[in-house]
Amino acid sequence: MIINIHAGHNPDGKTACGAIGFIQESTEARKVKDEVISRLRQMGHTVYDCTCENGASQSDVLVKIVNACNAHTVDLDVSIHFNAGAKGSAKDGKTTGTETLVYSESGRAKPYAQNICNAIASLGFRNRGVKTNKNLYFLRKTKAPSLLIECCFVDDRDDVALYDHQKIAGAIVYGITGKNTLQSGSADTDEKNAEDASSAADETPTGNKNAVYRVQVGAYSASDNAKNMQKRLIAAGFDAMVVKS
Ligand SMILES: [Zn+2]
Repeated sequence: MIINIHAGHNPDGKTACGAIGFIQESTEARKVKDEVISRLRQMGHTVYDCTCENGASQSDVLVKIVNACNAHTVDLDVSIHFNAGAKGSAKDGKTTGTETLVYSESGRAKPYAQNICNAIASLGFRNRGVKTNKNLYFLRKTKAPSLLIECCFVDDRDDVALYDHQKIAGAIVYGITGKNTLQSGSADTDEKNAEDASSAADETPTGNKNAVYRVQVGAYSASDNAKNMQKRLIAAGFDAMVVKS
């Protein structure tokens, strides 16, 4: 795919730098954006970074972003933001959550927006769903199908405690491509993640309740063939189960 991605707003410290809470929208959106771009490029996709670093005002930031987006012919325009205005900012075990926005319910960006929202929600964030908005300049003015991600709330302590820019980036990449990615270039970290996962008390063969990543070794139309593969895996020491789709 060919994709435009940008982080919303000017950098922190400049005018129009976005939402401020326990974390800063502008800074975190840039971390997520950089990680998403790096993972997509590693997968072979062409990605343009349309982030604006020097807007004179909020409207100037938006014009510069959209001009950068429309300079390329792409399959998808992606805008990364964080939300603010959480009702309960105290740590109460409930996140305010994640949402995505599209211009139209019937547009080509909608399925991507839905997948991204579901993938971020599966990290443990409340799923606020896909919303349509005809007023946002970015959604109105971009030529390609476009979507805006409000990753989570900067002013809810539960959101901030759960937030990890690499996990959010992984969920966004999964939502766009349908493929899981490992953290870029670190075998050590991958091994560590595997250890963490295997020691989790509520782990099952399909992962814990928050599992986003599953490993599949076969897909069969006859259940006997699936059961035979399961036997081979169990014989080889894997905890395998058959799931019917
Ligand atoms: Zn924003």
